[in-house]
Amino acid sequence: MSIERTLSAVNDSNRNPSSLKEAVGPISGERFMRRLLTREFAPPESLAALPKSERKALGYLVRAVRRWAEVYSIQEGSDGKARFYPTRATKNQIIRASEHNPEILSPYTVVLKAPDGNFDTVPMHQAYSRIIESTNVIGLLRDATKATKDKELKNYLKAKVHALQTGDWEEADKEWLSRDDEPLVDIVIGFYDTYTDRFLGRKYAAEAWTGVLNIEATKESQQFVDAFLENWAQKTGNTKPKVKVRVDETRIMSGQAGHEEGELRWTANSLPCQPELRRKIGSKFTIFDPSFDDIYRARSEAFDKYIHSGRLSGIPKSLIRTGILRRVMGHEIGHSLVPEGIEKRIGAHKNWFNELYCDLISLDGYFDIPQVYTHNREHEVAFAAHFSNGFLQHKLYKRTGEMGNYLPSHAIILKACIDSDAVHPLDGCLTWKDISEVRKTIHTLTDKVTKLGKDGIEIDVQQFRDEMFDDSIYDQILQTKSN
Ligand SMILES: [Zn+2]
Repeated sequence: MSIERTLSAVNDSNRNPSSLKEAVGPISGERFMRRLLTREFAPPESLAALPKSERKALGYLVRAVRRWAEVYSIQEGSDGKARFYPTRATKNQIIRASEHNPEILSPYTVVLKAPDGNFDTVPMHQAYSRIIESTNVIGLLRDATKATKDKELKNYLKAKVHALQTGDWEEADKEWLSRDDEPLVDIVIGFYDTYTDRFLGRKYAAEAWTGVLNIEATKESQQFVDAFLENWAQKTGNTKPKVKVRVDETRIMSGQAGHEEGELRWTANSLPCQPELRRKIGSKFTIFDPSFDDIYRARSEAFDKYIHSGRLSGIPKSLIRTGILRRVMGHEIGHSLVPEGIEKRIGAHKNWFNELYCDLISLDGYFDIPQVYTHNREHEVAFAAHFSNGFLQHKLYKRTGEMGNYLPSHAIILKACIDSDAVHPLDGCLTWKDISEVRKTIHTLTDKVTKLGKDGIEIDVQQFRDEMFDDSIYDQILQTKSN
């Protein structure tokens, strides 16, 4: 759609005031009654070691991130459409209209109903310009730009301010990814990830975080990522994508990233979201270290509960954290390796299938890179962590009735290992005799799923799921518990 049409939709709000109001909400009042999603963590130890200039910049960035939650609060709605689409619009109407106006499905626009009954769009930076102004996020980013002595961070912050004013998000993402090292202080702020759009899964929502670099853990993690990708490239003959990793001592997360409740809490995030852009400029995933600590506690309890104690002897506690973390990293890398065009071919199956693909890429690749292990049983821990986590997913499903995208993956891999006799239920837990048998099963399944991902169509994936997904497997294992 032309720029003039877009602009007139915004500037001439008399044209259709009710529709614009629907999209951006009342400008004051109700919005402030809602709970703002922010999650804050205690200042990390690394803060004390920061140069004064960066500590000062961080102070401004923390405030910017906190305020960015207000933008999210006007995007959220009572249903899956949030406020990205007109209340009464149907999926078909939106999809049909997008054939004439591709901006309708752009992740960065809000869809409105024009008075002539057609759909119209407004870019998010314009739709939310008033709230962006009233929160002074731009002013805070400028203050941080002045405070920091890190030249590349300055450039990135400038590009970010420009993006907030013009909608040129890609330029800022490029600045963010272009540097070779990691900044001591980092910030992500803008519109990313489609979780809030449960209607069509297209629109990005406001999210932000900022924190201090964990230098040692980042270095170690990047070595793991490099070894992992190198192995994958050699094995598949593909060129490896550029993937950076940052272990972040996060101070605050907000908006879509600010959930405090249980399984909705984020422990890692990989950006940019657009697969084409990732191929072009690479990607970076951030591990939110204090948040990972919370999840780790729950997962290590599950580990003790669902993996037979006979299998656990000789495994140091610290190794469990490493195994869980590195499995998560392998999974996040997997998102950069998903076969091209999969969205079009397998349609609605995409979400759970991608998680399965990433889990398998993670486990299969982990088995292959003993040179970076910190202990000779590290791969065993990763695989055990995957299985014990499956029990948590299953429990969550029973409690909430929400299947989510992770349970099918966990149950499918578990069933394959039980079918091949590599893994056995024992006394309500899981055990195995020989880890190399497990490795074989994972490898065969990875090949099968990779092939499906490359040239399967919807019906093939459906058939595979019907054959392999059986969540009653968890109850069957739990029933083997004696007494
Ligand atoms: Zn994933």
